[in-house]
Amino acid sequence: MTRAIGYMDATLFRHVVREVSQYSSKIFLHHFGDSLIHPQLGELIEFARKHGMQTYLSGNPNLLTNNRIHELVDYGLYELVLSLDGVSAATSEAIRGRAASNVEEAERKVRSFLEYRKARNMKTPYLILQFVRQKMNQHETASWLAKWKTVKGIDVVKVKTFVSWDGHDDRINDLRIDSVPEPNVVCDKPWTSVTVLWDGRVVPCCFDYDGLYVLGNLSKQSIRELWSSEAACRLRQAHRDQTLDDIKLCARCTDKEGYSVGKWYYPLNRFLSQRMPLGDEDVIALG
Ligand code: SF4
Repeated sequence: MTRAIGYMDATLFRHVVREVSQYSSKIFLHHFGDSLIHPQLGELIEFARKHGMQTYLSGNPNLLTNNRIHELVDYGLYELVLSLDGVSAATSEAIRGRAASNVEEAERKVRSFLEYRKARNMKTPYLILQFVRQKMNQHETASWLAKWKTVKGIDVVKVKTFVSWDGHDDRINDLRIDSVPEPNVVCDKPWTSVTVLWDGRVVPCCFDYDGLYVLGNLSKQSIRELWSSEAACRLRQAHRDQTLDDIKLCARCTDKEGYSVGKWYYPLNRFLSQRMPLGDEDVIALG
């Protein structure tokens, strides 16, 4: 990633929530970076909840402090995904860097979260513990599952299919062990969601970590303007026509979610066929 990093300003966040809550009841509070270090995370979760939104957050368990745990529970986060990509320190560090190497501390923090949620007699935030399976950690998959599926209080443990983001970096592509998904799929992201970067720029999907295809900026425009902008319409048309070579963001993407093309009933596929999922995820719901 080469774009500048930063925290989303709280005023901008509130504006985004006011805009988006007119059209959706779900908001994901993470993209590249980790929102668990945002100084105002708790009050922003509360603001979104008070606007009727279910809030989802994915982060690194090592970043949980006691205060942060209290905020996530007390301000009403709906779902928390914690990513632990290894059992051993060596594997965790190789994948997520030094901050993730202290696996004992990560485990203590997961347990602290569960204890606090129980003490508050809350069911939410639902906790999903996640392992993204790829070449560097596949040898630890079974031991990871054996370790976590018995921990009381975790709602779901999930071994997730690896995605290579926009497919431009072969160092990332080479980590894939699952087969590349069905190529003849019309990605439905341009019709279903947007991703807001910390500076207000809006991109079509979360794979756009470098802001390659900017639809506009929510600090200056409304979501309605961005949704029907020339850039958004051009992107949808290119997807419909399967002419993505000129759209750098999408040209090499192999992780499209949507509906198959090439069937006799295309373009009625939204009604007559099933949406293609992104890989086979091993999910164990513990409840
Ligand atoms: S084709 Fe890939 S990069 Fe493009 S919008 Fe769809 S998921 Fe995102």
